[in-house]
Amino acid sequence: MRIDLHTHSRASDGTQTPADLMTAAARAGLDVVALTDHDTAEGWTEAATAARGLGITLVPGMEISTEYEGRAVHLLAYLPDPGYPPLVEALTRVLAARNARVPAIVERLVAHGVEITVEDVIAGAGDAAAVGRPHVADAMVAKGIVEHRDQAFAQWLSPGRPGHVMRYSADLREMIGLVEAAGGVSVLAHVWGRHLPATLDVPVIAELADLGLGGLEVDHQDHDADARARLREVAVDLDLVITGSSDHHGLGKTDHDLGCNLTDPHQYDRLLDRAAAAAARSGRTTPAVENA
Ligand SMILES: [Zn+2]
Ligand SMILES: [Zn+2]
Repeated sequence: MRIDLHTHSRASDGTQTPADLMTAAARAGLDVVALTDHDTAEGWTEAATAARGLGITLVPGMEISTEYEGRAVHLLAYLPDPGYPPLVEALTRVLAARNARVPAIVERLVAHGVEITVEDVIAGAGDAAAVGRPHVADAMVAKGIVEHRDQAFAQWLSPGRPGHVMRYSADLREMIGLVEAAGGVSVLAHVWGRHLPATLDVPVIAELADLGLGGLEVDHQDHDADARARLREVAVDLDLVITGSSDHHGLGKTDHDLGCNLTDPHQYDRLLDRAAAAAARSGRTTPAVENA
């Protein structure tokens, strides 16, 4: 069984519609795929319909923008009730802050001589629920200012570069509690990835596990073999679920092909068990995983 638990569609910053993403997942030989757009459940319904037609299993999820002591941390949330009011409120704040950030970024870029407008960014973002830095990067590519997204980030949009603007994110500890209260299970995305220098050391991960964190994304393109081996040990020690995934963004990210990393079926079962237990404790109506 081939299981990929982290992908993005046009509902955030991927380049495929949720339905096209499911078609691509089936073509890539995946049996189970999670849709985890940034801070939104918007693609779930379309993806679920497509997955059913293709005979693959969709796990509804999202990747939530959080902050731990001033640093950005991505938290994957699987199977939460997307209508749980405190979660809706938190995601609304995150999305509003992200959308407000685009004009601020554009203003800085223009001040540095880059010819770009907010309209350019929005025009390229299509129906995305969350318009953010990747769409600014896409607009810069479309205008020939840079060659690809990575270059836009490296030269202009990352922390310390001229177009970087801080923004509000949810508090990581609080969000772990919210996901649990919404009947879902949380997994730290690309825990020791390139862009997260030493934020989450082992004592911090242990503290988060006590707060209800359910798992660690171990097999991810941002992790080298050494990071994967060490994270796997941490997960075993703390009894956390171990996941692996592509973090696919369609054409928006190279070297993240669907299925390039996979989750072990036993670990997937553990994830579903934890989600079912959280759902029972919360009393919320959580989305179903439909097994094809
Ligand atoms: Zn991420
Ligand atoms: Zn992601």
